[in-house]
Amino acid sequence: MALYTSKIESAGRVFAAVIVMRLLISNDDGIHSPGLAALAGAARAFGDVLVVAPDGERSSSSQAISSALPLRCSAAPTIAGAAAYRVNGTPADAVTLGLHLWPDIDVVLSGLNLGFNLGPAAWHSGTLAAARQAALLGVRGIAVSIPATLEAELALLAPWVHEALAALLGKSRDLPFLINVNVPREARGLMWTRASTEGYDGRIVPGHDGAGRDIYWFDMEPITGVDHQSDRWAVEQHWVSMTPISLDVTDETALTSLRQHHPLDTILAAQTSPHVSSPAEAAQVREDEAQTPGPDVVRPAR
Ligand code: MN
Repeated sequence: MALYTSKIESAGRVFAAVIVMRLLISNDDGIHSPGLAALAGAARAFGDVLVVAPDGERSSSSQAISSALPLRCSAAPTIAGAAAYRVNGTPADAVTLGLHLWPDIDVVLSGLNLGFNLGPAAWHSGTLAAARQAALLGVRGIAVSIPATLEAELALLAPWVHEALAALLGKSRDLPFLINVNVPREARGLMWTRASTEGYDGRIVPGHDGAGRDIYWFDMEPITGVDHQSDRWAVEQHWVSMTPISLDVTDETALTSLRQHHPLDTILAAQTSPHVSSPAEAAQVREDEAQTPGPDVVRPAR
């Protein structure tokens, strides 16, 4: 079992303490997914494992939160020998509730998703969103996805899931805080990649229901000509793709250019507004962004 040491200061003396890493496992395929059990099993080599996952399939739910519904966290049968709980919500709900109820978690692992999450899929993926929710809450997040068609052959991938976790849960100080991992079939090794932006595979496929009415399926189309060293290129070449993900979604290139060539009132604002807003102004914005719960929901008083 991998342990890490931590300096603990007490009464002016510094002790080196050996601490077991605590890992929370979640996913978007739901608590019954064999991928969840495989990841929980792999994680046990690295520390204490707890599973908190959605009670059913929530794929492509991205980072939705159940802001207008109460959440429940119920004990489930153990998974890969680890205590497990199911949440009647989204992946982001499960991670948020898990970190609230077990605040001593060091790392959140999400997966193994049955299906790659490459390039623009990151915007839809509930698997990556679960890890990103952890990162938003200040806890490291690692999302791991595998080929959808390898559900019956999870054991084949186990050594590479272990290798990826070993690389990411090591002692190095510059390990990424949030990372998207895709493990291909017949992997050859691990590599750092960038998220592919070479194309978007979402498309609508029209059809008809039994009554002859128009229906539409959201489907995926093949992408060709992928960018070198991207996540998609890596798995095509049988490398485990490990993409560090940023929480800052600002387009820095556009921002620099806009400030320079089309500044609007940006300079005036910087010159005439204080660095820190007044408490009243801050409170007004908090009120303006508050979500109103439905009339049938009674929230507990804070
Ligand atoms: Mn999924």
